Amino acid sequence: MIIVMSTSRQDEVDHVIGRVEEFGYKPHVIYGVERTVVAAVGDERGKERLTSLESLPYVEQVIRILKPFKLAGREVKEDDTIIDCSGVRIGGGHFAIMSGPCSVESEEQIMESARVVREAGGNMLRGGAFKPRTSPYSFQGMELEGLRVLRKAADAYNLPFVTEATTPEQVPVVAQYADMIQIGARNMQNYGLLRAVGKADKPVLLKRGMMSTINEFLMSAEYILSEGNPNVVLCERGIRTFETETRNTLDIQAVPVVKLHSHLPVIVDPSHAAGRWDIIIPMACAAVASGADGIMIEMHPNPEVALSDGQQSLRPKKLHQLVETLKPLLAVMKKEVS
Ligand code: PEP
Ligand code: MN
Repeated sequence: MIIVMSTSRQDEVDHVIGRVEEFGYKPHVIYGVERTVVAAVGDERGKERLTSLESLPYVEQVIRILKPFKLAGREVKEDDTIIDCSGVRIGGGHFAIMSGPCSVESEEQIMESARVVREAGGNMLRGGAFKPRTSPYSFQGMELEGLRVLRKAADAYNLPFVTEATTPEQVPVVAQYADMIQIGARNMQNYGLLRAVGKADKPVLLKRGMMSTINEFLMSAEYILSEGNPNVVLCERGIRTFETETRNTLDIQAVPVVKLHSHLPVIVDPSHAAGRWDIIIPMACAAVASGADGIMIEMHPNPEVALSDGQQSLRPKKLHQLVETLKPLLAVMKKEVS
């Protein structure tokens, strides 16, 4: 249920929060541009008690949320959410360009990557320290040392960084170093991990599972939001189809569909969708045209010696070319990189 307030006075909002808790629901306050609402999440059998709150002069209406995603849906918040990731804004006209290698391989490699991202015009650094590899024999990442050098490179080039946590136990240490915690496609339905990042105080980048529907994707976001973390960015990264020319198939229509349902920002990762470097630029253009709020691009200073995903990583020169190609499209779509 959502309680639509006709006020944003804190004492009146607090009064409603108190009642919601007393009735056995979990309150989530959402401050929109137009209105403040209190979402009461829980078993809806006792909804009559919440309806009684309409008797308060500063409660406009108590409405049932029809969609299964209560907090991620537009029903509870009409306007686009803007996420602030250590000064970089994502959503509502703010476009993020996240780039960097698949894996952090050494201090020099991530330092050089950060330099390239900054020079090319990107505004966030990516790189995996804990890698979710399909094979247990593949490079598993530099782990803690990877986080340390990511922080160093991020600070040196003034770029917030995003990196993945693959288990609930890793979340506190990843949150300590990173500006944004990534949940990878393979973990989209790892509910213990979703709850753990839901309790963290850093924004979360949730990637769509390669075999997940849009509804399941949004329900996973709901897990994070329901734990109290409102800062979730969704990422379309390709789904599995019968096509073999590409690693996955970029579901570009997921961007406008998710945006119809949800107020959360949506970014696109063409690198893991394509699995090949030579179609990344046109797919990044498609992402901008689809209304995405950002892109995540794998770039390696020297892809031919990369320890993971070299085949889909752009060379530095190509990243420059990509950003230049996007500029006029971003202007048409009224998006700014800031
Ligand atoms: C990644 O971004 O490093 C990654 C492993 O991607 P995905 O989870 O989308 O496969
Ligand atoms: Mn990768």
